[in-house]
Amino acid sequence: MRKKPAKKHGLKKPGGSRASAGARKFILKYGELWLKSEFVRNRFIKTLAENVSRQLRMAGIKEFRLERTRDMLILDCANPKAPQTLSKIFGITWFALAFETKPEMKAMEKAVLALAKKIGREQTFAIRASRSDKSLAFTSKDVENEMGKNVDRKVDLSNPDVTIFVELRKGMAYVYSEKLKGAGGLPYGVTGRVLSLLSGGIDSPVASWLMMKRGCSVDFVHYYVNESGVAKIQGLVKKLGEYAPAKLMLYSVPFASIQEAIVKNCDTHFTCVLCKRLMYITACSLAKETKAKALVTGENLAQVASQTLDNLVANDDAVSMPKFRPLLTMDKTETIALANKIGTYDLSIREAHACRFVPRKPATNAKKEIIDREANKIKNLDKIIAKAIASSIKSTV
Ligand code: ATP
Ligand code: MG
Repeated sequence: MRKKPAKKHGLKKPGGSRASAGARKFILKYGELWLKSEFVRNRFIKTLAENVSRQLRMAGIKEFRLERTRDMLILDCANPKAPQTLSKIFGITWFALAFETKPEMKAMEKAVLALAKKIGREQTFAIRASRSDKSLAFTSKDVENEMGKNVDRKVDLSNPDVTIFVELRKGMAYVYSEKLKGAGGLPYGVTGRVLSLLSGGIDSPVASWLMMKRGCSVDFVHYYVNESGVAKIQGLVKKLGEYAPAKLMLYSVPFASIQEAIVKNCDTHFTCVLCKRLMYITACSLAKETKAKALVTGENLAQVASQTLDNLVANDDAVSMPKFRPLLTMDKTETIALANKIGTYDLSIREAHACRFVPRKPATNAKKEIIDREANKIKNLDKIIAKAIASSIKSTV
């Protein structure tokens, strides 16, 4: 098959030759893209390359050069903020700052020796070579044997303190010692658009992030009673936006009229289950506008009284749209650990307005027929919802 020329973005002052051992560039490795067909893989890689360029620019990094190859992106960028940004781009499993040299013993050895300077006196090392270009005159083993010869440190092949990797490719070799963790997942935007129900709590930002990680474009809906709480939600969306290649869209929908309709017309024992049902219905209606294919919530099985299996089932067919619940089976400690990693935890635990309609004893084993019956008591629900959506605050965060 004919090879496409590598695509380049943002051409300006690349890293150049910053060390005698050669230029240093970031190599960015894809995750499970090898599972995909050639066509899908190419589409994903193209999106990933666009996302990398966009996220770098959004972080204020303007000078870089990006090359696309079949199994990695090569980024030439001297900005010290680059690693921080790269660690927040979905679709990159790991990345490394590598010396780029000719695939020749002398050149590669220079790079190896430059990296070896950082190996402590008491530390051990190993060289690991891999070769995708089988036409080269030497094997990976030859490279491993040759490269280590002049490194004045102890070799430990089974459990080295430092590993120096040498990747031999067509016309080029990459030499590096530190693999940095990427965000993993799939490139943002490749799997489709969803609408996430974002409360100010700990869970829903994590659920949204997991959907972003799985390649979804995510819009957000937040239901508020007090407008002063919206700033906190914008803060959460902004934080999540650090992982996206574009600004994110938040719809803040006033919910007081909907809650009042519930407490005025229905048995208040079921207020929380009904409230959740109307959140789904409102989101479903809004999703027609945002073109979302599914809803996302931070619900977890049995974490709180409102999320018992009975309560979740009672509302299951309230809307025809699928509801994705990425946290369904997670322990709270796991969710909190993720929230901390993402950076949403501290924002989430800031003070929130408590709901004044929560009954003293909320229903934990609601029955679908009863919730259907109670919901049907609300007249003109469509109009109430349409009015709330019409007066929602749209913000691009
Ligand atoms: P969270 O930590 O996300 O607030 P929670 O454990 O407190 O979740 P609930 O309050 O029952 O549980 O909410 C369950 C889910 O319903 C939330 O994760 C969110 O997806 C959605 N939700 C709840 N309140 C709101 C709201 N005010 N606006 C938008 N979505 C909401
Ligand atoms: Mg909550």
